[in-house]
Amino acid sequence: MESSKAQTLVISGIRDQARITRSFDLRPERAVDFTPGQVAILRVEGEEPAYFAFAGAPADRDLEVLVKQKAGASRIIYDMCVGGRIELLDVCGRGFMLDEMTGRDLVFVAMGTGVAPLRSALRHVLKRKNEFGQLVVLYGARTPDDFCYRDETDAWESAGVELRQVVSRPDGHDWSGPTGYVQSLLDNVLPHLASPVALICGSREMIDQTRERLGKMGFKPDEILTNY
Ligand SMILES: Cc1cc2nc3c(=O)[nH]c(=O)nc-3n(C[C@H](O)[C@H](O)[C@H](O)COP(=O)(O)OP(=O)(O)OC[C@H]3O[C@@H](n4cnc5c(N)ncnc54)[C@H](O)[C@@H]3O)c2cc1C
Repeated sequence: MESSKAQTLVISGIRDQARITRSFDLRPERAVDFTPGQVAILRVEGEEPAYFAFAGAPADRDLEVLVKQKAGASRIIYDMCVGGRIELLDVCGRGFMLDEMTGRDLVFVAMGTGVAPLRSALRHVLKRKNEFGQLVVLYGARTPDDFCYRDETDAWESAGVELRQVVSRPDGHDWSGPTGYVQSLLDNVLPHLASPVALICGSREMIDQTRERLGKMGFKPDEILTNY
Protein backbone atom coordinates (compact mmCIF):
# COMPACT_ATOMS: atom_id res chain seq x y z
CA MET A 1 0.00 0.00 0.00
CA GLU A 2 1.31 3.47 -0.84
CA SER A 3 2.22 5.63 2.19
CA SER A 4 -0.12 8.50 3.08
CA LYS A 5 3.01 10.69 2.96
CA ALA A 6 3.59 9.92 -0.74
CA GLN A 7 3.40 12.99 -2.95
CA THR A 8 5.31 15.02 -5.51
CA LEU A 9 7.76 17.67 -4.27
CA VAL A 10 8.80 20.59 -6.48
CA ILE A 11 12.29 22.08 -6.11
CA SER A 12 11.85 25.70 -5.02
CA GLY A 13 15.44 26.62 -4.15
CA ILE A 14 18.99 25.30 -4.47
CA ARG A 15 22.11 26.39 -2.60
CA ASP A 16 25.71 25.20 -2.92
CA GLN A 17 26.70 24.11 0.57
CA ALA A 18 30.08 22.45 0.25
CA ARG A 19 32.26 20.57 -2.19
CA ILE A 20 29.83 18.38 -4.23
CA THR A 21 27.02 19.06 -1.75
CA ARG A 22 23.89 21.18 -2.31
CA SER A 23 20.79 21.85 -0.28
CA PHE A 24 17.40 21.69 -1.97
CA ASP A 25 14.20 23.37 -0.82
CA LEU A 26 11.27 21.17 -1.74
CA ARG A 27 7.71 22.46 -1.87
CA PRO A 28 5.13 19.81 -0.95
CA GLU A 29 1.59 19.70 -2.33
CA ARG A 30 0.33 19.20 1.22
CA ALA A 31 2.06 19.51 4.59
CA VAL A 32 4.44 16.71 5.58
CA ASP A 33 4.41 15.79 9.23
CA PHE A 34 7.88 14.80 10.47
CA THR A 35 10.02 14.80 13.60
CA PRO A 36 13.48 16.45 13.48
CA GLY A 37 16.01 13.76 12.61
CA GLN A 38 13.61 11.75 10.47
CA VAL A 39 14.51 10.75 6.94
CA ALA A 40 12.71 11.21 3.60
CA ILE A 41 12.65 8.36 1.10
CA LEU A 42 12.94 10.12 -2.26
CA ARG A 43 12.69 8.74 -5.78
CA VAL A 44 13.67 10.19 -9.11
CA GLU A 45 12.96 8.54 -12.43
CA GLY A 46 15.22 5.66 -13.38
CA GLU A 47 16.84 5.31 -9.95
CA GLU A 48 16.19 3.30 -6.81
CA PRO A 49 14.61 5.25 -3.90
CA ALA A 50 17.23 6.79 -1.58
CA TYR A 51 17.37 8.18 1.95
CA PHE A 52 17.84 11.88 2.71
CA ALA A 53 17.43 13.26 6.21
CA PHE A 54 15.28 16.38 6.52
CA ALA A 55 17.54 19.39 7.11
CA GLY A 56 14.78 21.91 7.89
CA ALA A 57 12.53 22.22 10.92
CA PRO A 58 8.97 20.85 10.83
CA ALA A 59 7.65 24.43 11.08
CA ASP A 60 9.50 25.58 7.93
CA ARG A 61 7.29 26.21 4.91
CA ASP A 62 9.30 24.09 2.47
CA LEU A 63 11.10 20.84 3.18
CA GLU A 64 14.89 20.87 2.86
CA VAL A 65 17.40 18.13 2.13
CA LEU A 66 21.16 18.09 1.78
CA VAL A 67 22.41 16.11 -1.19
CA LYS A 68 25.99 14.96 -1.61
CA GLN A 69 26.73 13.94 -5.18
CA LYS A 70 27.44 10.24 -5.04
CA ALA A 71 25.89 7.34 -6.98
CA GLY A 72 22.21 6.72 -7.72
CA ALA A 73 19.48 9.23 -6.85
CA SER A 74 21.92 11.68 -5.23
CA ARG A 75 23.80 12.02 -8.53
CA ILE A 76 20.58 12.87 -10.39
CA ILE A 77 19.12 15.21 -7.76
CA TYR A 78 22.40 17.10 -7.41
CA ASP A 79 22.09 18.28 -11.03
CA MET A 80 18.36 19.09 -10.94
CA CYS A 81 17.05 22.67 -11.31
CA VAL A 82 14.36 24.76 -9.66
CA GLY A 83 10.97 23.47 -10.83
CA GLY A 84 12.22 19.86 -10.99
CA ARG A 85 10.00 17.20 -9.45
CA ILE A 86 10.96 14.55 -6.92
CA GLU A 87 8.71 11.86 -5.46
CA LEU A 88 8.49 11.64 -1.68
CA LEU A 89 7.63 7.99 -1.03
CA ASP A 90 7.66 7.96 2.77
CA VAL A 91 9.21 9.27 5.96
CA CYS A 92 11.21 6.89 8.14
CA GLY A 93 13.44 6.69 11.21
CA ARG A 94 12.45 7.61 14.73
CA GLY A 95 13.93 11.11 14.73
CA PHE A 96 14.70 12.91 17.97
CA MET A 97 11.92 13.34 20.54
CA LEU A 98 13.21 16.76 21.55
CA ASP A 99 10.17 17.70 23.63
CA GLU A 100 11.13 14.86 26.00
CA MET A 101 14.58 16.42 26.51
CA THR A 102 13.62 19.77 27.98
CA GLY A 103 15.95 20.90 30.76
CA ARG A 104 18.81 18.75 29.44
CA ASP A 105 22.07 19.82 27.79
CA LEU A 106 21.94 18.69 24.15
CA VAL A 107 25.20 17.47 22.60
CA PHE A 108 24.85 17.01 18.85
CA VAL A 109 27.55 14.87 17.24
CA ALA A 110 27.56 14.78 13.44
CA MET A 111 29.84 13.78 10.57
CA GLY A 112 29.51 14.60 6.88
CA THR A 113 25.94 14.85 5.63
CA GLY A 114 24.83 13.89 9.15
CA VAL A 115 24.72 17.64 9.66
CA ALA A 116 21.31 17.56 7.91
CA PRO A 117 19.36 15.86 10.73
CA LEU A 118 21.45 17.85 13.22
CA ARG A 119 20.37 21.12 11.61
CA SER A 120 16.73 20.04 11.57
CA ALA A 121 16.83 19.39 15.32
CA LEU A 122 18.84 22.53 16.03
CA ARG A 123 16.43 24.79 14.11
CA HIS A 124 13.57 23.28 16.09
CA VAL A 125 15.39 23.72 19.42
CA LEU A 126 16.59 27.28 18.76
CA LYS A 127 12.96 28.39 18.47
CA ARG A 128 12.49 27.38 22.15
CA LYS A 129 16.03 27.66 23.42
CA ASN A 130 15.13 28.64 26.99
CA GLU A 131 13.50 25.21 27.46
CA PHE A 132 16.88 23.46 27.14
CA GLY A 133 20.23 23.60 28.91
CA GLN A 134 23.46 24.12 27.03
CA LEU A 135 23.56 23.38 23.31
CA VAL A 136 26.77 21.87 21.95
CA VAL A 137 27.40 20.99 18.30
CA LEU A 138 30.37 18.75 17.41
CA TYR A 139 30.75 18.50 13.65
CA GLY A 140 33.35 16.56 11.66
CA ALA A 141 34.13 16.79 7.94
CA ARG A 142 36.92 15.59 5.67
CA THR A 143 38.23 19.06 4.81
CA PRO A 144 37.21 22.63 5.65
CA ASP A 145 35.55 22.77 2.22
CA ASP A 146 33.21 19.94 3.24
CA PHE A 147 31.46 21.84 6.03
CA CYS A 148 27.85 22.69 5.14
CA TYR A 149 25.70 25.57 6.40
CA ARG A 150 28.78 27.77 6.82
CA ASP A 151 26.56 30.84 6.37
CA GLU A 152 24.58 29.84 9.47
CA THR A 153 27.20 28.77 11.96
CA ASP A 154 27.86 32.34 13.18
CA ALA A 155 24.14 32.69 13.92
CA TRP A 156 24.18 29.38 15.80
CA GLU A 157 27.02 30.66 17.96
CA SER A 158 25.34 34.04 18.49
CA ALA A 159 22.28 32.13 19.69
CA GLY A 160 24.46 30.49 22.35
CA VAL A 161 25.44 27.23 20.65
CA GLU A 162 28.94 25.98 21.48
CA LEU A 163 30.19 24.88 18.06
CA ARG A 164 33.32 22.78 17.61
CA GLN A 165 34.45 21.56 14.22
CA VAL A 166 37.08 18.99 13.33
CA VAL A 167 38.66 18.01 10.03
CA SER A 168 39.97 14.53 9.23
CA ARG A 169 42.04 15.41 6.13
CA PRO A 170 43.59 18.84 6.71
CA ASP A 171 46.55 18.43 4.34
CA GLY A 172 46.70 21.18 1.74
CA HIS A 173 44.01 23.24 3.46
CA ASP A 174 44.13 26.37 5.56
CA TRP A 175 43.00 24.78 8.84
CA SER A 176 44.36 25.51 12.28
CA GLY A 177 41.58 23.79 14.23
CA PRO A 178 41.51 20.26 15.63
CA THR A 179 42.05 17.27 13.37
CA GLY A 180 40.70 13.72 13.50
CA TYR A 181 37.26 12.20 13.89
CA VAL A 182 34.41 14.02 15.60
CA GLN A 183 34.42 11.63 18.59
CA SER A 184 37.77 13.08 19.60
CA LEU A 185 36.00 16.30 20.62
CA LEU A 186 33.84 14.61 23.24
CA ASP A 187 36.48 14.57 25.98
CA ASN A 188 36.83 18.36 25.91
CA VAL A 189 33.21 19.35 26.33
CA LEU A 190 31.35 16.66 28.20
CA PRO A 191 32.96 17.01 31.64
CA HIS A 192 31.57 20.56 31.85
CA LEU A 193 27.92 19.63 31.28
CA ALA A 194 25.46 18.99 34.12
CA SER A 195 22.79 16.91 32.39
CA PRO A 196 23.85 15.92 28.89
CA VAL A 197 22.02 13.89 26.25
CA ALA A 198 23.95 12.93 23.10
CA LEU A 199 22.21 13.07 19.72
CA ILE A 200 24.32 11.29 17.12
CA CYS A 201 24.00 11.67 13.33
CA GLY A 202 26.45 9.71 11.22
CA SER A 203 27.46 6.40 9.69
CA ARG A 204 26.84 3.10 11.46
CA GLU A 205 30.55 2.81 12.27
CA MET A 206 30.72 6.35 13.69
CA ILE A 207 27.58 5.78 15.75
CA ASP A 208 28.96 2.55 17.23
CA GLN A 209 32.30 4.18 18.07
CA THR A 210 30.65 7.26 19.57
CA ARG A 211 28.24 5.14 21.60
CA GLU A 212 31.12 3.09 23.00
CA ARG A 213 33.09 6.19 23.91
CA LEU A 214 30.12 7.86 25.58
CA GLY A 215 29.40 4.65 27.50
CA LYS A 216 32.92 4.71 28.89
CA MET A 217 32.36 8.35 29.90
CA GLY A 218 29.35 7.32 31.99
CA PHE A 219 26.44 7.93 29.61
CA LYS A 220 23.50 5.60 30.16
CA PRO A 221 22.03 3.91 27.05
CA ASP A 222 18.93 6.14 27.16
CA GLU A 223 21.16 9.23 27.09
CA ILE A 224 22.65 8.25 23.72
CA LEU A 225 20.19 8.82 20.88
CA THR A 226 20.32 8.33 17.13
CA ASN A 227 17.90 9.66 14.55
CA TYR A 228 17.67 6.51 12.46
C1 LIG B 1 19.21 7.01 6.98
C2 LIG B 1 20.12 7.64 5.97
C3 LIG B 1 20.06 9.02 5.76
C4 LIG B 1 20.89 9.63 4.81
N1 LIG B 1 20.79 10.95 4.62
C5 LIG B 1 21.54 11.52 3.67
C6 LIG B 1 21.41 12.92 3.40
O1 LIG B 1 20.64 13.62 4.06
N2 LIG B 1 22.14 13.43 2.39
C7 LIG B 1 23.02 12.67 1.65
O2 LIG B 1 23.65 13.19 0.71
N3 LIG B 1 23.18 11.36 1.89
C8 LIG B 1 22.46 10.79 2.87
N4 LIG B 1 22.57 9.45 3.09
C9 LIG B 1 23.55 8.70 2.33
C10 LIG B 1 24.80 8.43 3.11
O3 LIG B 1 24.81 9.01 4.40
C11 LIG B 1 26.09 8.99 2.51
O4 LIG B 1 26.27 8.52 1.22
C12 LIG B 1 27.29 8.66 3.35
O5 LIG B 1 27.10 7.81 4.42
C13 LIG B 1 27.66 9.95 3.98
O6 LIG B 1 28.96 10.13 3.99
P1 LIG B 1 29.54 11.59 3.73
O7 LIG B 1 30.13 11.56 2.37
O8 LIG B 1 28.60 12.65 4.09
O9 LIG B 1 30.64 11.67 4.85
P2 LIG B 1 32.19 11.58 4.64
O10 LIG B 1 32.63 12.83 3.96
O11 LIG B 1 32.56 10.26 4.06
O12 LIG B 1 32.64 11.60 6.16
C14 LIG B 1 32.45 12.75 6.98
C15 LIG B 1 33.53 12.81 8.06
O13 LIG B 1 33.42 11.70 8.94
C16 LIG B 1 34.71 11.07 9.04
N5 LIG B 1 34.57 9.68 9.41
C17 LIG B 1 34.71 8.56 8.65
N6 LIG B 1 34.53 7.46 9.42
C18 LIG B 1 34.28 7.91 10.67
C19 LIG B 1 34.03 7.27 11.93
N7 LIG B 1 34.00 5.96 12.06
N8 LIG B 1 33.79 8.05 13.00
C20 LIG B 1 33.81 9.41 12.91
N9 LIG B 1 34.07 10.06 11.77
C21 LIG B 1 34.29 9.33 10.68
C22 LIG B 1 35.33 11.32 7.68
O14 LIG B 1 36.74 11.12 7.76
C23 LIG B 1 34.95 12.77 7.50
O15 LIG B 1 35.74 13.61 8.28
C24 LIG B 1 21.78 8.84 4.06
C25 LIG B 1 21.82 7.46 4.27
C26 LIG B 1 21.00 6.87 5.21
C27 LIG B 1 21.06 5.39 5.42
